[in-house]
Amino acid sequence: MAEHYPRGTESTLKWCNRCSRITKHAVSDGRLGRCMEHEISGESKKQKAARERREQEQRNPTFWPGQ
Ligand SMILES: [Zn+2]
Repeated sequence: MAEHYPRGTESTLKWCNRCSRITKHAVSDGRLGRCMEHEISGESKKQKAARERREQEQRNPTFWPGQ
């Protein structure tokens, strides 16, 4: 059931439901941790806006006609 990773693995690429794309996930002690890409702390306001717009576009690909 749980996936295991070789010792020494620190991250893996996996689907994230929240990001709606393949993202880097932390791995510790051979066990899958959380997505590293939407938990980034200290992102700037501009980075946050860009990320949210990207996430929004990926959730609603037809939401931005003509853009
Ligand atoms: Zn994520």
